Amino acid sequence: MSALDDLPPLRDVIRRHGLSAQKSLGQNFLLDLNLTARIARASGPLEGVTVVEVGPGPGGLTRALLALGAGKVIAIERDPRCLGALAEIAEHYPGRLQVIEGDALKVDVRPLVGDAPARVVANLPYNVATLLLVGWLSADPWPPWYGSLTLMFQKEVAERIVAAPGSKVYGRLAVLAGWRATARIAFDVAPTAFVPPPKVTSSVVHLVPRTEPLPCALAMLERVTEAAFGQRRKMLRQSLKSLGVDPMPLLDAAGVAETARAEEIDVAGFVRLANAYAEGRGNVPWGALTQLGKT
Ligand code: SAM
Repeated sequence: MSALDDLPPLRDVIRRHGLSAQKSLGQNFLLDLNLTARIARASGPLEGVTVVEVGPGPGGLTRALLALGAGKVIAIERDPRCLGALAEIAEHYPGRLQVIEGDALKVDVRPLVGDAPARVVANLPYNVATLLLVGWLSADPWPPWYGSLTLMFQKEVAERIVAAPGSKVYGRLAVLAGWRATARIAFDVAPTAFVPPPKVTSSVVHLVPRTEPLPCALAMLERVTEAAFGQRRKMLRQSLKSLGVDPMPLLDAAGVAETARAEEIDVAGFVRLANAYAEGRGNVPWGALTQLGKT
C-alpha cells in the first residue's frame, strides 16, 4: 500500500506483471509516487480535468493524476504487457481511466477528449518525445485541443525547447515552441529516480499554448527556420539562398540584418521572414536561380 492510494507499491506491480524495462520502448519507470505527484501537480490543479497521458507503463504517474483528482485520464500505451497493471488502476478508479493500446504517434485523441479542457501530462518515451512535441505544437486548428503540456524530456532536449536567441542550443525547436507556446522548465529529475536509470538528467517542461500566436503559416516558418539553422554558422544572406530566393529583398522586407545569423533572430523575426517568404519577396526569375547559387 502507498501513501498516495490504496494500490500496491509499484515495485510489486512491476514484479507481478513481469514488466522488465525495454530499451526499444524508451522504458524508464518512475517508482516514487511523491515524484509522480510532483509532476502531476506541475500541470496545475487537476480537479475534474481530462488528462491525456502518453506511455503510462506500470502506472506511477497515472495513479498520481487520478489520486489528485483528474476527472478522466486517457492513457495511450504501446506495450501490451502493461495492460494488466493499468486494468487494476482502472478498477480502483471506476470510469476514470481509459487505456488505449497503440502508438501515440498514430492515435488521434481529439475525438476522445471532446470539448473537455484537456491537458497532456507524460513521462515521455525519449525515442519519440521530440516528434510528439512537434506534433502537438503543430496542431491544426489552433488554439489546440489541449490547455497545457507537462512533459518529461532529457534535460538537453528541455533546454533546446526553452532556449532564447543567442543561446548555442537555440534552434528550430525553440522557434516553434516559442511561436506557439510559452515554455519553461519546471524542475530537473536525477537519473536515480528512474528504473532503470537513464544516462542523463531529465527535466519536466511545462508549455502553455498561446491563444494568438503571431500570424504566420506553419509550413513557411518551417522552411525558413530549416534554411536558416541548416547553416547556422553562416550569415542569413548566405543561408537563406537554400530557399531558392534572393535573400536580400526577403531580409529587407522582414527588417532583418543581412549579416545576422540564425541564432540571433527571435521568434518575431522568423515570423516576419516566413511572411515575407510567403508573399514571394525575393522570388527570382527562372534561370537566375543558378546564378544565385554561385554568388
Ligand atoms: N509513465 C511511466 C512512468 O513514469 O513510470 C512510464 C514512462 S516510460 C519513460 C515511457 C512509456 O511509454 C513506456 O511505458 C513505453 O512502453 C511507452 N511507449 C513507448 N513508445 C510509445 C508510443 N509510441 N506510444 C505510446 N506509448 C509508448
